[in-house]
Amino acid sequence: MEYANIIVNISHENLDKTFQYKIPSSMQGILEVGDYVSVPFGKGNKIINGYVLELTDSPVYDPDKIKEIEEINTDNRLVEYKLIKLAYWMKKRYGSTMINALKTVLPVKRKVREKEEKSIILKIGEKEAYERLSIYLKKHQTARERLLRELINEGELDYKVVTGKLNVSAATIKAMEQQEVLSIKSRRVYRNTVIGNKPELKLRLNEDQKYIVDSITDEYINGYRGTYLIHGITGSGKTEVYMEIISKVCEMGKSVIVLIPEISLTYQTLMRFYRRFGDKVSVLHSKLSQGEKYDQFERAKKGDMSIMIGPRSALFTPFENIGLIVIDEEHENSYKSDSMPKYHARETAIELARLHNASVILGSATPSVDAYYKALKGEYKLFTLDKRAKEESVLAKVHIVDLKQELKDGNRSMFSQKLRIMMEDRLEKGEQIMLFLNRRGYSGFVSCRSCGHVIKCPHCDVSLTRHINGKLKCHYCGYETIDRSTCPECGSTYIGTFKAGTEKVEKAVKDMFPYANVLRMDADTTVKKDSYESILSSFSNREADILIGTQMIVKGHDFPYVTLMGILIADMSLNVNDFRSGERTFQLLTQAAGRSGRAELSGEVVIQTYNPEHYAIEAAKSQDYKLFYSKEILYRSLMHYPPVGHLMAILIESPDEETLEKYTTALAETVKNDIIIDCNKKSVSIIGPTDASVKKINDIYRKMIYFKAVDIDSLILIKDKCEMFKEEHYNRKVRIIIDMDPLNGY
Ligand code: ADP
Ligand code: ZN
Ligand code: ZN
Repeated sequence: MEYANIIVNISHENLDKTFQYKIPSSMQGILEVGDYVSVPFGKGNKIINGYVLELTDSPVYDPDKIKEIEEINTDNRLVEYKLIKLAYWMKKRYGSTMINALKTVLPVKRKVREKEEKSIILKIGEKEAYERLSIYLKKHQTARERLLRELINEGELDYKVVTGKLNVSAATIKAMEQQEVLSIKSRRVYRNTVIGNKPELKLRLNEDQKYIVDSITDEYINGYRGTYLIHGITGSGKTEVYMEIISKVCEMGKSVIVLIPEISLTYQTLMRFYRRFGDKVSVLHSKLSQGEKYDQFERAKKGDMSIMIGPRSALFTPFENIGLIVIDEEHENSYKSDSMPKYHARETAIELARLHNASVILGSATPSVDAYYKALKGEYKLFTLDKRAKEESVLAKVHIVDLKQELKDGNRSMFSQKLRIMMEDRLEKGEQIMLFLNRRGYSGFVSCRSCGHVIKCPHCDVSLTRHINGKLKCHYCGYETIDRSTCPECGSTYIGTFKAGTEKVEKAVKDMFPYANVLRMDADTTVKKDSYESILSSFSNREADILIGTQMIVKGHDFPYVTLMGILIADMSLNVNDFRSGERTFQLLTQAAGRSGRAELSGEVVIQTYNPEHYAIEAAKSQDYKLFYSKEILYRSLMHYPPVGHLMAILIESPDEETLEKYTTALAETVKNDIIIDCNKKSVSIIGPTDASVKKINDIYRKMIYFKAVDIDSLILIKDKCEMFKEEHYNRKVRIIIDMDPLNGY
């Protein structure tokens, strides 16, 4: 390459303002993207610094007038240097433009106003506080009780946390202020979302935990860096292990990034980190504004804190010296980005760790097949925790109910005999129940029993879902229409829904147990900000007996009084047309089982299914990950699916069906020829082009081409070809989306 495009002023708005320089022969083959260089700039040729964003052979103007790069600065410790390198790796690995990759990793610069925020402090002594508490208890003032309890624990609480996560109203706070139980004070914040002042008691690690901590820290101290996978059942004390290792790494003057899926960024988990590490910790919620995020990143850069906790984007915290990256619940789908570049946080973390000479710890109760495969191959080091850390808590007992048999026995309801009897028992004892319904999208579609016609969204080619308010709704675009009593195709009146949605479950439960208090949590009841937390907190305060929900309820959160988990139809996620459906089903069922009986009371789980003999269900019954893995990996090997092989999905979209057809065919033909020339020895197979499984969304048509290969490098090569084709056949009406090792179907 002869030229380098260089950015001299890094900021989001300037990313496309690059200047071109000639690469002197002494730097040929040495200069890389991301390098920090000095260049002569402007009329006076003042020497300034910049970063290399691109290497190219095509000059943008008269080659004689292009100036040369002065020198490569060797100060590679700079944060930007590593982030640009990372962006370049992401662009190459996952496919995207350099600008999009840079926008993903570089913080958005925006002025932030200093915020004035309120916090709540306990105004009375501990003894008096406990007297108050018993009064609130007697009067059933649950919100006051909840707030006071938390204040006794913490001393001081952020006002927003109290009204949000703790779900205590402003009026209640006011009333308690008038009782002189608490006072509200204003403080200038340099923003920590939660504050606590009680140090966490360090637990004595058990033998198994200690072994992991010692192994990893010994290696660390001896200069070895690696990727570790901790396979530990729910409640086995993984978080304690992370915290112990984190504190050792921090002692060595390094920073740490902890990734947690958004859904488990719960108050409880965060408090544990705050109590242990205090001000060193900062949290990156996706709910933070851009300004707040930038503010956090600035603090990280200045070294004001050294532990960043957050969802996948927390990876791009501009720490100068990262020593460790922890990814909890490593198997979660939310670690994969849904916009280009469609990076996976696990692989990206490993690359980032390489740039910083850091280690990576992955943890999960149900590791992804991908991670476990790599661990067994020796790419990651595997550790296992197979006992719960608190001795008194035991794993739940799991029962399987065959729904086909129920039907034969004449039971047409969505509750098996067994589940109904067990629910009755828990309600009598005053213990709590969770009912888990797998996946909203698969429930409640309306079809005709006479002709089989399914009512679909006119814009999206997906079935509409019936809601109890009498409307039919599209979950892709929000389209709504009135419900029908006759089939639009054949006029038959035998038209209706055949699968249960959460609303329907709620209704059935209320019919069966009119005296029970029921809460429902799904995408519809949690649209409002913080409603997710407030439903969870009122359930954990035992304001309801039964919580009904979709996958949201099976993650995070400890509910000590839940002793029964009912999984209504376990198969829904098995029937999804996706090679990972077995894995997902096993994960969901195992997690759901882990929700029951975490504390003193032992729990039971009922899995209702039409496929009791499926290995994912059988393995979930015995909560046996290895059994599941051994079956699953056989199937993946046979089919050359990831992690044994690799898969790349190319989605091509256009509002014009004919343009799309032609474009896709041409793309597929070109790439096919290239494959024969370039990688005929490597086994690459091409599937498609075909219609995407949702053929149209919002009036945009969609087609797919899949490529399967044993090694990722051939796929990267094919990806480059597709990107080249896209550049050479630019079409304003066509969009191409590349997805390496996709987690979701299209
Ligand atoms: P995981 O992250 O694997 O789900 P946690 O670290 O959250 O597990 O631990 C589960 C529970 O056990 C927590 O309440 C934690 O405080 C407790 N715990 C963890 N380690 C120990 C230990 N060594 N001794 C006593 N309790 C422990
Ligand atoms: Zn019909
Ligand atoms: Zn729609």
